[in-house]
Amino acid sequence: MTAITSVYPGELVRLPARRGVAIRLTRGQTLKLINTHGQQVVDTWAFNPDDLHEAMSMEHSRPYWLKLNPRQGDSLVTNKRRKILTLIEDTSPGVHDTLVAACDPTRYEQLGVIGHHDSCNENLFLALAAIGLVTPDTPSPLNLFMNVPVHQDGRIEFAAPISEPGQYVTLKAEMDAIVVLSACPQDITAVNGMRPQDVHYSVI
Ligand SMILES: [Zn+2]
Repeated sequence: MTAITSVYPGELVRLPARRGVAIRLTRGQTLKLINTHGQQVVDTWAFNPDDLHEAMSMEHSRPYWLKLNPRQGDSLVTNKRRKILTLIEDTSPGVHDTLVAACDPTRYEQLGVIGHHDSCNENLFLALAAIGLVTPDTPSPLNLFMNVPVHQDGRIEFAAPISEPGQYVTLKAEMDAIVVLSACPQDITAVNGMRPQDVHYSVI
């Protein structure tokens, strides 16, 4: 488990492939998340530090945007419909996912994996545990850089990311928040280009 925290503002921190981290942001701070190798999905959650029952919610954010995915300038809201993060910069093609749940042990079992496989759901709980917190449940994540095309007939599919190495997103905290990032360990479907990789982030 990774419990990395920045030592100084703007320090570039490595989030190793398959691992998660919890980051405390105060209102107005920004988190820059760099897709170092280009094809890594990062499951992202944000919680109210004073009440973990209040969390960034995809089902509350989509009607706020009237879109499936946030674009530069869009704010993400909590299950209490309060702004918690704003996507202030996105140098990727803007392909992210808000439809798919975090991967978890059962998902890998159903994909035929024998034995333990790292998962975003476990990373969420481990990252929060590393700072002494327990989430009451697993909100649907903002799956940054995840490419889940939605077809005209309603079908969706898992495709490789179309982001390029070094592209990044910057999220601004609209309230104090605990953000959890998980470098998705999925290596059975195409979502990480079949090869989980490190990403980097910094907080300013
Ligand atoms: Zn995952």
